This record gives sequence, structure tokens and C-alpha cells, in this order.
Amino acid sequence: MDYTIETLIPREAVEKRIKELASEIEKDYKGREVIVLGLLKGSVIFMSDLIKEIDIPLVIDFMSVSSYGNGTDSTGVVKILKDTDFELKGKEILIIEDIIDTGLTLKYVREFIESKGTKSVAICTLLDKPSRRKVDIKGDYVGFEIPDEFVVGYGLDYAQKYRNLPYIGVVEFHEDEE
Ligand code: 5GP
Repeated sequence: MDYTIETLIPREAVEKRIKELASEIEKDYKGREVIVLGLLKGSVIFMSDLIKEIDIPLVIDFMSVSSYGNGTDSTGVVKILKDTDFELKGKEILIIEDIIDTGLTLKYVREFIESKGTKSVAICTLLDKPSRRKVDIKGDYVGFEIPDEFVVGYGLDYAQKYRNLPYIGVVEFHEDEE
């Protein structure tokens, strides 16, 4: 099927919002030792922009998870493909996610991380689709609430492409024309 990508949130607006989130995080975590934990691969572009704006000596780590789903819907059954490099026991963790949709993936990941005996766990997400939520999970730092649309860019992919778009776009599908 043919598709186009329409801008939903322009680059300047994303960059401005990331700076606001960074200054909130900086204020909240001043004097604390935080591990900023990105979920691969979607969070990478957002996380890289975000942490450059946070002026505290933080540590970064990554996890990779895959949710077993039927195409676009996740099921809440999550496989850990890559665990953290660092020991999380007693640490303050800030999870960085690209988008919270049903919330199933993040709920699993959060409980997995908490089970390691962390001191605190908070969530920072660039995007949030609250209308799709199936479980009770909230971002502590949320860039933008968006409607139920399939978005790409700033780390988010469509068939592994478009992660490098410097804005958030909506994929709009069109009937093929003869
Ligand atoms: P959840 O478990 O919250 O339903 O799924 C979250 C994951 O689904 C995100 O990390 C992301 O990989 C994927 N996802 C959810 N909505 C979108 C979307 O609109 N666009 C893209 N590219 N991925 C999405």
C-alpha cells in the first residue's frame, strides 16, 4: 500500500520540549546518582538529545526487549534480549522510552527492573498515547500526548525505517491508484 508521512510535531517543537524535560529532570535529580536507562532502539535519538541538556554527572545504560505481539499490538509478554551492563541494586533509574502505547511493555520492564532492588524507578517518554492504555502505567516525564495514530521519526520506525527523521510524522496509508 502507498503511504505518505505527514508532520505531526515539527522539529523545533520537539527540540524545545526536550530542553524543558531536561531541565525538569536536572532539577529533580540534582545531587542524586542516576542511571539513565534507554530501551533500544526507539529511545536512542530522544535520549541522546535529552542527556546533552542535563547538567549532572549521570550514567547511561541500555536494555533491549522485544514484545511478543501480533503485528502492531503488544501482548505484555516481553523477552529481555539485552539486560543492563550495570548492577541496578540500590540505584536510581530513569527509564527512557520513545512512546507509551498500551503500556504493556513498560509495565513488564518496570517490574523487571524494580525486582533488582532499585532505590527508585521513574519513566521519561517522548510520546504518550493515553487513549490506548491497557494497564495502569504513567510517564513521570512526558514530552507530548498524541492521538491514536501510528507515528515515526525521532527514533520511531516503520518497518525499521524513518528512525532518523528529525520530526514526528504520522504514516498515512492510501489506496493504490491504478
Ligand atoms: P506498548 O507495550 O506500550 O503497547 O508498546 C510500546 C512500543 O510499541 C513502543 O516502544 C514502540 O516500539 C511501539 N509503538 C507503539 N506505538 C507506536 C507508534 O505509533 N509508532 C511506532 N513506530 N511504534 C509504536
